[in-house]
Amino acid sequence: MAIQQAPRVINPWHVAQQQFDRAAALLELDPGLREVLREPRREFKIHFPVKMDDGSVRVFTGYRVHHNLTRGPAKGGIRYHQDVNLDEVKALAMWMTWKCAVVGIPFGGAKGGVAVDPKQLSKRELEGLTRRFTTELAVVIGPEKDIPAPDVNTNAQVMAWMMDTYSMHAGYTVPGVVTGKPVSLGGSEGRAEATGRGTVYCLEDALRHMGEDLAGQRVVVQGFGNVGGTAARLLHEAGARVIAVSDVTGGIHAPEGLDIKAVSRWMSEHGYVSGFPGAHTVSNAELLELDCDVLIPAALENQITAQNAPRIKARILAEAANGPTTPDADDILTARGVFLIPDILCNAGGVSVSYFEWVQDLNRDHWTESVVNAKLREIMDRSFGEVLVMSEREACDMRTAAYLLAVDRVASATALRGLYP
Ligand code: NAD
Repeated sequence: MAIQQAPRVINPWHVAQQQFDRAAALLELDPGLREVLREPRREFKIHFPVKMDDGSVRVFTGYRVHHNLTRGPAKGGIRYHQDVNLDEVKALAMWMTWKCAVVGIPFGGAKGGVAVDPKQLSKRELEGLTRRFTTELAVVIGPEKDIPAPDVNTNAQVMAWMMDTYSMHAGYTVPGVVTGKPVSLGGSEGRAEATGRGTVYCLEDALRHMGEDLAGQRVVVQGFGNVGGTAARLLHEAGARVIAVSDVTGGIHAPEGLDIKAVSRWMSEHGYVSGFPGAHTVSNAELLELDCDVLIPAALENQITAQNAPRIKARILAEAANGPTTPDADDILTARGVFLIPDILCNAGGVSVSYFEWVQDLNRDHWTESVVNAKLREIMDRSFGEVLVMSEREACDMRTAAYLLAVDRVASATALRGLYP
């Protein structure tokens, strides 16, 4: 009788620690400092009640983790997803620390989330959950100490409710407590597109390094939400051939290229990309292995593992999602010569424009979209260049190079501040 093996569950926190350990060993980091940076500074877990539309009360579990606050206030998104758990939030918080350091933004790393499938809630229930969660978080968040932002299944509306709830408690409007707000409430121009746009800037930098450009590149995007949907649209507009996209329900593939504007219209009418006329249906697993030049995972963690890495056909892997690739898959891809743009660099456009939003809020200022995009371009180009130089100098892959830069920056800042008391 054939024995079916259960799929191995990959813990993102173990992945994050493994990635850090590799960099710490290469940097020959002081053992004490290594211990400090290997763990989060604070882990906050909340069980909170929400009144449902039928009058019943449900208790939800939420988290906020501060990984490291050495270089500035804590910064990181809020995720609503049924699989959110403490280890995932810890991993995402640690990745935020390195991301802010790699692009030179003066923030520390944080992340938060609630274990909930928001699609099962009414809009009123979602608002109630957000407002009560924000109230519980009020002891740890604030414009000077921890500034949340959108992540998977949260958006500008959720940020507006968070800002309003925090402001109601303060007694005055505090726009700087969250970023990713609607522009009419102190949000930044360009923030909604920033993560996808930053991914495209990195991709252009990578192609320039290879002596190529975007025109005609065959691109596959996993996840058609804020990040993946924006990246696909911008790439399509820039002349790349987006041949496949997907959402949680599955993907669509058209080797001659998809009309991304038409796919977006289909998505808003139907709620998913499947069934788009003229495209073949593919599963998310098949999509990752399609013949293409560029693969952009823009959904969740652990999509590219040792199991499927040998079959990935892309020449460039641009990690718009956080943690899409496991360390053993990294080794396989590097050996196969795939050019990797690591998540802590590739998707840093989001936190960069979040930083611009925070600065504008604190200064009661408002920049134009062209100013925002020009500043974003400058940050992404400079950071990509620094990581590339490091990878050439140390003869290592781009993830290792990004970690060497980021961990060294955080470690140096920690050493300069000294140990209190
Ligand atoms: P989103 O909720 O807007 O979109 C997520 C997309 O992924 C949706 O299309 C959803 O259907 C799809 N998806 C969900 N589960 C999936 C699965 N199991 N398989 C395939 N597709 C799946 O979220 P987002 O803000 O676009 O975030 C996507 C990724 O980008 C996450 O890893 C997030 O942490 C990362 N990220 C987001 C930002 C930001 O500014 N929003 C910034 C940096 C990094």
